[in-house]
Amino acid sequence: MKAAILYEANKPLQVVDVEQEGPKAGEARVRVMATGVCHSDWHIMNGDWASPMPIVLGHEAAGLVEDVGAGVKTVGPGDHVIFSFRPHCGRCLFCSTGRTILCDGHTAARGMQLDDTFRLRRNGQGIYQMGRIGTFGERVVCPAEMLVPMRKEMPWAQAALLGCCVPTGVGAVTRCAQVESGAAVVVIGCGGVGLNVVQGARLAGARMIVACDLLDNKLVFAKEFGATHTINAAQADVVETVRGLTGGRGADYAFDAIGSEKTTLQIIDAVRPGGTAVIVGMAPQAVRAPINPYLMAVQEKVIKGTMYGSVRPNVDFPWLVDLYLDGRLKIDQLVSRTYRLGEINEGFAAMRGGQVARGVITFS
Ligand SMILES: [Zn+2]
Ligand SMILES: [Zn+2]
Repeated sequence: MKAAILYEANKPLQVVDVEQEGPKAGEARVRVMATGVCHSDWHIMNGDWASPMPIVLGHEAAGLVEDVGAGVKTVGPGDHVIFSFRPHCGRCLFCSTGRTILCDGHTAARGMQLDDTFRLRRNGQGIYQMGRIGTFGERVVCPAEMLVPMRKEMPWAQAALLGCCVPTGVGAVTRCAQVESGAAVVVIGCGGVGLNVVQGARLAGARMIVACDLLDNKLVFAKEFGATHTINAAQADVVETVRGLTGGRGADYAFDAIGSEKTTLQIIDAVRPGGTAVIVGMAPQAVRAPINPYLMAVQEKVIKGTMYGSVRPNVDFPWLVDLYLDGRLKIDQLVSRTYRLGEINEGFAAMRGGQVARGVITFS
């Protein structure tokens, strides 16, 4: 089968033939039907995040279960599934208290299966799988606990985005911040995640949704997703403009969907006293942001981080599927361009150029 492999940072992905071993106990083999092109893959490609290599990247995907290993009861052949890129052991402190995204119940090395072995090889060399899944390939063998079954009427490309950008953005609002109806919300960055923060705020009943980006075409997308106001941050000061829109106080909630020193400081400054600033976007690992502890104290601000929107995949992915199929969640508009696996490097070039809301690789 074919897969796109990263052998070295700052080099293109290589689409090549690889050997794949079938599922062992507790695992499943899934035929990938669609997989999204995400900034998190890019952070590994450009060396922002340390990673073992060679590796098959890709973590936002949906597919068809082909066969399962011994003892697997949660999915079976023919099931349509969304991949979760976080483990779910079901027994650790975090799984037991409903914070499954923080699961620490497995000890196997990153990018390998739970028994510390590889399922992919090329010329005898073991190949890692991003998040133990690695969906930039025709098939994935992975722990069955990372697969969430879905309704079969859900279209594949749209389902793929339920594996990362949709739950991350919508969950940041509904699960992490728990934005209440009538709130004023600011979102910095209108890519795949930021647009889902915007529509999460719309679903939560926010009164004001202020979307910020450097590119006007992304602000047009944001309006379509429910933004009530937009700010081109290349032309206007985000914090001053937000204060002007909110009686001088600042917003109730602000979300950094980029992940950088500048944007993290902007969300803290853009919220009112007692407001909540949420870091959603994934920064390069070396980034630091100097907060002002005095102002944090006297203004009683809250700063939170969220991974994967703090969702519970087994509960929230089926909820998001229902919302989409009921016409209440926009995903069609996110799928701006589709590619074949062989065109994957073009997909990343378009993402970096800001030309697309989300690029999706399709296989059928
Ligand atoms: Zn992602
Ligand atoms: Zn766990």
